[in-house]
Amino acid sequence: MEQFDVIVVGGGHAGLEAAHAAARIGARVALVTMKRDDIGTLSCNPAIGGVGKGHIVREIDALDGVMGRWADAAGIQFRLLNRSKGPAVQGPRTQIDRDVYRQIARNETLATEGITVITGEVIDLVMDAGRAAGVRLAGDAAILGRTVILTTGTFLGGRIHVGHESWPAGRSGDPASERLASRLKDRGLRLGRLKTGTPPRLRRDSIAWDEIGSQAADDDPVFLSMETTTPHRRQIACGVTATNGATHEIIRSDLDRSALYGGALSGRGPRYCPSVEDKIVRFADKAAHTIYLEPEGERSDIVYPNGISTSLPADVQNRMVLSMRGLEGAEIVRPGYAIEYDFADPKSLAPDLSLPDVPGLYLAGQINGTTGYEEAAIQGLVAGANAARAVRDESPLPLSRTTSYAGVLIDDLTTHGATEPYRMFTSRAEFRLSLRCDNAEERLSGMGHEVGLLSDRKWTAVHARHAAYQRLRNGEVIASDPSREHAERRLAAEELYGPYLERQRRDAARLEEDAAIVLQAGFDYDLPGLTVQQREKLAAARPRTLAEALRIEGMSPAAGVVLLAAVKNARAAAA
Ligand code: FAD
Repeated sequence: MEQFDVIVVGGGHAGLEAAHAAARIGARVALVTMKRDDIGTLSCNPAIGGVGKGHIVREIDALDGVMGRWADAAGIQFRLLNRSKGPAVQGPRTQIDRDVYRQIARNETLATEGITVITGEVIDLVMDAGRAAGVRLAGDAAILGRTVILTTGTFLGGRIHVGHESWPAGRSGDPASERLASRLKDRGLRLGRLKTGTPPRLRRDSIAWDEIGSQAADDDPVFLSMETTTPHRRQIACGVTATNGATHEIIRSDLDRSALYGGALSGRGPRYCPSVEDKIVRFADKAAHTIYLEPEGERSDIVYPNGISTSLPADVQNRMVLSMRGLEGAEIVRPGYAIEYDFADPKSLAPDLSLPDVPGLYLAGQINGTTGYEEAAIQGLVAGANAARAVRDESPLPLSRTTSYAGVLIDDLTTHGATEPYRMFTSRAEFRLSLRCDNAEERLSGMGHEVGLLSDRKWTAVHARHAAYQRLRNGEVIASDPSREHAERRLAAEELYGPYLERQRRDAARLEEDAAIVLQAGFDYDLPGLTVQQREKLAAARPRTLAEALRIEGMSPAAGVVLLAAVKNARAAAA
């Protein structure tokens, strides 16, 4: 039987980046997913990028990943968010033609050398001498591989809730992954519950577009991939309406019929992407909430009302929608719902996204407690690259929170875990003035090329952009150069943040130096300032460096200070 190097379970955003990254490195990859047509499905909002999320997509692009290119090819409304603020917190975003994105994702994946797409439901791992050695499908067929990456999103033990009704599902219309969830539990994976929700979808021609506001695409679009120079599709406007007193009253009077408030859901939801019920309760004094009406495609007759994610029963959803300006005659095509699902405690993961307790197994995406396409995609890319490199006995990608949002995300997850769905914000990065969209290639492409992620073509293009930036910095005129705009943005940011960047570079270097401090084999953890549990865990884990010590569950910044001081004292005593 054929043995793959990397088996990726799931054709969502994590799975796709994982499969493509592993294939770029030269691995033989099997991508196993429930339905071939599902590849590249956007489960919720038809948009990619934004503040923090756009930064992640630029990092994916700098490592030759697929999300930025595909988003640009399917983009129907490019907007640079936070345009009036500093460049470090500006994020490119685009609304997406959902069907076009899926077609591109499916066609490119099927045509990629090194990736074999297999449809089926994975129900268990195949184990060999304690290692993950493949996956078992419903119907009992097995696929063998040297590494396995699970990217099953919201499907593990997924349960949809609408009002007081609930049923098992991975997302609307898709079966849940029940058997895999239960086998993973049996195998000792620490699983918890989280939840998220989605709004009802509306029929496009049932909306009175002339009676509401509108928001157009930018005249000078900023794209998600550095390679894109012009929009591929016609740019459209979206509609803008708002909730009002009547809407709030309808929601308030039926709150006990909401799955979120009726006590049916135990998992925690995304604090920064709350349901409309949440908004009405938590911001009770707010008279209105803005709702963006985003068409799901250039010609699609479905509209996504961004801002009214809900788990209220269908009849309440209907009254709520009809109460808003421009929606008085609106027709709901599909009601909104909440979904509760299992996730694996990301504190069980090593920084390369492998699970030390099950060698050969990697986890990436929403299964690790994150929310969002972009957060899933970057984890997929990292897990895919690391699995492919592990097969060749090569070291994992050197990512750190000083040089990338990828590093920030993985460090946050593996160190602190996820008590609610984790979403990226620029405020999570200590060095955010240095981690900008305009310099992602500068930060990551060299490393990407070294580890085999970047094609020669991409590497040449990165060089050309860097050369254009250098010419501009030296005062040369580069008016006809296609890289002019990127170079100008980067130079403007470097000039604006100049003095701070120098300080950040020094702070980052010091942090990296401290993190690399070696803890000798016989290091005595019986230190005042550490709790008994911290001492026991450190003595049991015997970390090799301070960075490894701080990743152990239960360690705190204060514990880091105690350890650092102890190492310095020991050195001083030995000198
Ligand atoms: P997914 O994109 O879910 O992909 C999972 C893949 O795994 C699918 O292809 C599926 O077929 C496959 N699969 C699962 N189990 C098996 C199995 N046993 N065998 C084979 N294949 C399997 N994000 C936001 O940022 N904001 C939001 O408001 C938001 N709301 C959401 C609302 C809903 C209802 C849902 C479902 C998701 C929402 N999300 C939201 C999250 C966003 O969709 C995900 O974060 C993102 O898609 C996760 O990507 P992923 O690759 O981890 O998983």
